[in-house]
Amino acid sequence: MRKYFVMTPLLIIIGFIFIGAKTTIEKPRPQEVKLNGKVLCIAEEMKTLYNVELDGEHIHLYGFKTDKDKYYTLLNTPLSKALFIDKRLHEKDLIINGRVFPNSQLLEVLRFMSIRNGVVHELYYYCDTCYIRTVAPGNCDCCQAPVVLMEKPLNTDSLIPSP
Ligand SMILES: [Zn+2]
Ligand SMILES: [Zn+2]
Repeated sequence: MRKYFVMTPLLIIIGFIFIGAKTTIEKPRPQEVKLNGKVLCIAEEMKTLYNVELDGEHIHLYGFKTDKDKYYTLLNTPLSKALFIDKRLHEKDLIINGRVFPNSQLLEVLRFMSIRNGVVHELYYYCDTCYIRTVAPGNCDCCQAPVVLMEKPLNTDSLIPSP
């Protein structure tokens, strides 16, 4: 009988440890993806497709529509900032490498490139005075002049003067 009273709390503690360990193991991982498509305002897209009534002065909800008609919402991060503020990128066919978070359609952009005439192009911003390369538009960190959007074919570094 004495033994039983000692064992019960011990088993409960072991049980809690086991449950705790199980929840950390089961946390789902983000999925790494490579997607082809275009950046667009998915709020406007849903308005067109499903007659969603948007507020007239709505804040754009930028997302990515893949070539398989799948929609992802873009997370605004330093690496994706250009896709939010540079409208020229909305005209391009893009390839996005990133992560999609579990049970969501949230896309974190880790790298983006364009496809032009069937050729993969690197996209970046550049100050040709300071030879500084950045991932988003704005003023050069060094000379404060606006950086310029560059689009260069990938894997042809030997043919193009390196930035
Ligand atoms: Zn919009
Ligand atoms: Zn500069």
